[in-house]
Amino acid sequence: MIFKIVVIILGVLIILCIIAILSKQASEISKMEHLETQEIINDIFVIKAGSANFYLIKNGDEYIAIDAGGNKKEAQRELKKLQIPSEKVTVVLLTHTDFDHIAALGLFGNAAIYISKEEVQMIDGTVSRMLFVKSKLNYSYKTLEDNEERNFGKIKVKTILMPGHTKGSASFLIDDKYLFSGDNFSLKNGRIELFNSFFNMNDNIQKESIKRLDEIKDIEYIFTAHYGSIGEEQIMLFNKRFPFVESKNVATITCKHIMNDHFPILYVSHDENDGMWQFLCGNEHGNDEAMVVALEEVYEVDSSISEIADLPLGYVAFRQNHESAWTIESRK
Ligand SMILES: [Zn+2]
Ligand SMILES: [Zn+2]
Repeated sequence: MIFKIVVIILGVLIILCIIAILSKQASEISKMEHLETQEIINDIFVIKAGSANFYLIKNGDEYIAIDAGGNKKEAQRELKKLQIPSEKVTVVLLTHTDFDHIAALGLFGNAAIYISKEEVQMIDGTVSRMLFVKSKLNYSYKTLEDNEERNFGKIKVKTILMPGHTKGSASFLIDDKYLFSGDNFSLKNGRIELFNSFFNMNDNIQKESIKRLDEIKDIEYIFTAHYGSIGEEQIMLFNKRFPFVESKNVATITCKHIMNDHFPILYVSHDENDGMWQFLCGNEHGNDEAMVVALEEVYEVDSSISEIADLPLGYVAFRQNHESAWTIESRK
């Protein structure tokens, strides 16, 4: 009898856990911004299939696909709209092997499928994707090395390994100017930020991977799988330029809560006397909770401080929470 009750309670708990995970997943997906199917720029098409975008690049009479969407039926329907026969897709480059990037692979029977060499561990049973769930890829595939440059017909592809979302997540740089970034970061208000942490295997590794974008000089377009795309002007504006006039390594006061626990920055002061920046979480602090770090490090944990990068000396800025507007006041 007791055994039965324990089993029932455990069963209910497991079901509640699954429901909680699924509803969290749904709410995180609803924060994403997918593009509708269209020719987005000349010879580059975006396709909406399931809760992900994937892309096709025209390559003479054929196409290269970057990822393969989250729903096969929807992918088929959308390709029809664009009048692109799926047999014309001869290469599929997978940024990684999550389900929402491979669901329509069955449509592309004529294509050679590529993943990064490091992504193999995600599908050969070595590494679990989430808890005990392992990813699968039921098609034969070839691998690409980090930094490898390869020509497919007229198109040059460079593989840029950017682990973090999965162990072998990669971005693909096409013809030195179009970057297809999969789930390697998100775009918020045109800014490059971490991808949704709920779906990332390791935020810290992804943060390091994002720095690799500095290696690429002249990106004209960035195409993501869940956060739309941005063009050159926005990239220049939001990503290439450090928003502070101070140098990146200038000493800055902050607290452990922000740097280690990712508390939001709610209080900023730009000191009148020495010009020093302080970024604090708004709580009371003991001496051992303060930290001195480079300004760049604070900007990396929370790029929204670019909004107050022009705070004059002798002023403070504060806000209720991460989403609310800053109130700016003179300290005099
Ligand atoms: Zn993913
Ligand atoms: Zn995805």
